[in-house]
Amino acid sequence: QADARYLVSLIRSIPDFPKPGILFRDFMPVLADPRGLRIMINGLEAALPVPVDSFDLVAGLEARGFLFGPALASRLGKGFIAVRKAGKLPPETVGEEYSLEYGTQRIEIERSAIRPGQRVLVVDDLIATGGTAKAAADLIVACGGKVSGFSFVMELNGLNGVAALGDHPTSSLLTMP
Ligand code: 5GP
Repeated sequence: QADARYLVSLIRSIPDFPKPGILFRDFMPVLADPRGLRIMINGLEAALPVPVDSFDLVAGLEARGFLFGPALASRLGKGFIAVRKAGKLPPETVGEEYSLEYGTQRIEIERSAIRPGQRVLVVDDLIATGGTAKAAADLIVACGGKVSGFSFVMELNGLNGVAALGDHPTSSLLTMP
């Protein structure tokens, strides 16, 4: 509807960034736009993949998941935790390595960030192959938490990213070609 069209109109698409052949979808102009930012946060709340009382924490993925995760968590009455790229957090951390198109990436979480049994909603700006979100979910489980679901602003069409997340409930505000 009109709100979704407005959000899409704010997404910037950059060809051949960060590598040749990649069409990079940039949601930073949404954050810079008061109406866009409000629509996005309202939309994420309205489109939660699970009931609001079925999770305790929001986990944002570095770096763009940090830009709206705390605002969404605050709106929902939850705490926020950060899933970081390797080497940024003081000990003690738990890490998970996963494959990218070229090479591997490692993400980490503070071991004490999640109390045993806490339920976590994972958020990020965009899901492509799903590898990053899947690795984050594995980390949460390794820390003794439970994954309630995933919320994304954008989902890239045709990459089957959501399928890589298994049975977890997932929502995306926008599907991008
Ligand atoms: P995946 O692991 O699902 O293949 O890739 C998703 C991760 O890479 C996310 O953390 C996301 O921020 C980043 N990413 C991949 N492609 C894009 C893109 O086109 N635009 C943006 N903003 N991030 C991307």
